[in-house]
Amino acid sequence: MENEKFSLPNYNIPEDLETIVAITTLDRLYNWGRRSSVWPLMFGLACCAIEMIAAQASRYDMSRFGMEVMRPTPRQADMMLVSGTVTKKMLPAIIRLYNQMPEPKYVVAMGACASSGGPFKEGYNVVAGIDKFLPVDVYIPGCPPTPQALIAGLIKLQEKIDRQSIKKVRWYDRKKEDANYVPMPILGPDLIDVRRNAEIKQAAAAKESAS
Ligand code: SF4
Repeated sequence: MENEKFSLPNYNIPEDLETIVAITTLDRLYNWGRRSSVWPLMFGLACCAIEMIAAQASRYDMSRFGMEVMRPTPRQADMMLVSGTVTKKMLPAIIRLYNQMPEPKYVVAMGACASSGGPFKEGYNVVAGIDKFLPVDVYIPGCPPTPQALIAGLIKLQEKIDRQSIKKVRWYDRKKEDANYVPMPILGPDLIDVRRNAEIKQAAAAKESAS
């Protein structure tokens, strides 16, 4: 970041020191560090992942945003890029990976499937959006979104990070114990198990007749 963007306005820095001195806030310094090295977790779920891979290649080059280091381990990743269809079978693995990521951590829903189920919405095996389970920071529309759209979404994420304050972000909330832990979804109570459709319909009919 250039010095004039880094320094907050209203600080009078002598002209001869302008190129070497910056006065800023802790928030701004902290956000600058995070927004410039958001390392994505390396995993893809479906066709959207191909566009994500294209965005990492030389033509689009996500390294311009400090996002070129895709980590194969959640322990070293800052951002979960959910690129593709989230199936009920895959969901527990995704939640487990999210829980294993250290804070601060962000989630980007790439494409119609990750945002809402997309063309498979209401499908027997598909979750209608990862935001039903994880706190999504940025949604990227499209089926699939182009690499340019992905980059636009990642810039939005950087802008969101720029506006955060170290005092308010949920990772440092001492009052809550493990505020970021997401319970593992269970087929049945959390996710509709189609094998139990007859039982579910029967219970719904009984509830309706009783009301
Ligand atoms: S949004 Fe479209 S391109 Fe992306 S995973 Fe779903 S079907 Fe494939």
